Amino acid sequence: MAFQPIPRAAALLLLAVLLVACQRSEEKRENASGIPAALLAMKPKEDPTAVAVLMYHYIESHDDARDPRGADLFVPTDMFEQQLQWIVAHGYRTIDLHTYLALRSRAINEPKKSIILTFDDGYADAFQNVFPLLQKYHQKAVFYIVSGFLGKPGYMTMDQVKTLHDAGMTIAGHTVSHVDLRFLSAKELRHQLEESKKTLEALIDAPVDHFAYPAGRYNSRVIEMVQALGYKTAVTTHHGVARARDPLLQLPRVRMTKRTNLAAVLP
Ligand SMILES: [Zn+2]
Repeated sequence: MAFQPIPRAAALLLLAVLLVACQRSEEKRENASGIPAALLAMKPKEDPTAVAVLMYHYIESHDDARDPRGADLFVPTDMFEQQLQWIVAHGYRTIDLHTYLALRSRAINEPKKSIILTFDDGYADAFQNVFPLLQKYHQKAVFYIVSGFLGKPGYMTMDQVKTLHDAGMTIAGHTVSHVDLRFLSAKELRHQLEESKKTLEALIDAPVDHFAYPAGRYNSRVIEMVQALGYKTAVTTHHGVARARDPLLQLPRVRMTKRTNLAAVLP
């Protein structure tokens, strides 16, 4: 009987070790989403303006690790479809940037479960793979189009972009030739931002109010020109959920890779 306290202490110790191990594996699971644990810990609970702007590039099945475009730019088509299914099943819905602006100004009482899907660069697979799935699940998205790449191999044609617009998708600007805007002369900067806007507006016969900085590169000069030309929002590649405190011309996004756990990155 004198030995009884010892096994009990051992059992408690074992329990403590197991608890710590569980916690560790929990952290690992969070990290598997590609998001630092510290950022996940900052998830807002009561911010009704917090919206995840998901950033996608290629939606296609991709197995070549040597592809110079980089594996992290790809989300396989079936995985993207599963994400849309998850969005629908969990009561989330995708909104456009017009609705987002209204939400930011609190002009409307939008449900908290809103997501913005964004696709950069205007790749051909946006029309071939993304668009049919958005229609299948009755969701919408924003497509940032490089106007000078329209119709080139691997990119959408003008007709396809028009079709996206006519189906209720948002067509947004992403410059004429996807250059780093920080080092351009004022004239070149204006050309990249204005010419692309005009080209897209003529194509869809509607205003182009939204913009994405190529490769997420910008500075205060670039922001001023984006503002002067009338763009209402601009997205970056800074990681995070967009909140009311984020300037409308510097909205953060959540980079989607095939390792990203959608549920873990939503507010
Ligand atoms: Zn881009």
